[in-house]
Amino acid sequence: MHIDYSGQQNEAVDAIWNVHRTCLQLRDGQEQRQSRLVTAEKQAVKSEEGKAVVCRNCRHPITAVELLSSRDGSRTHTFFNPAGIVFEIICFSLAPGCIVHGAASTEFCWFSGFTWRLAFCGNCLTHLGWLFESRDAIFFGLILKKLMGDL
Ligand SMILES: [Zn+2]
Repeated sequence: MHIDYSGQQNEAVDAIWNVHRTCLQLRDGQEQRQSRLVTAEKQAVKSEEGKAVVCRNCRHPITAVELLSSRDGSRTHTFFNPAGIVFEIICFSLAPGCIVHGAASTEFCWFSGFTWRLAFCGNCLTHLGWLFESRDAIFFGLILKKLMGDL
């Protein structure tokens, strides 16, 4: 007796290709993000001679005055989080001294079109603020009172 498996095989092959395509898309997204971060790190090296901005808790260098950046026309922004806590944040194009952790979230994002991830001091792990990312931009919004520097 002859059994025709060809239809089932095609389905299986399609399924494998779908998984493969998804993996490729994920990898491309990661590579794009990494290349943005590498560019940002190169900028940071250039500004090493600039005035450091450090973690208020442990004095770990976080970023530099030269890396201040404006968002929606202002470097500083005051926001409430959903728990009603006020945050005064200041924007930097990057903060190499931060560790960024967790999945990107769009919930209660203060900047439209951006997702956020938590940013911590790379030394003492104090929560310092957030990394905001959109399709073509990244910046850090750091909590002013948790930093020290000529701000
Ligand atoms: Zn620290």
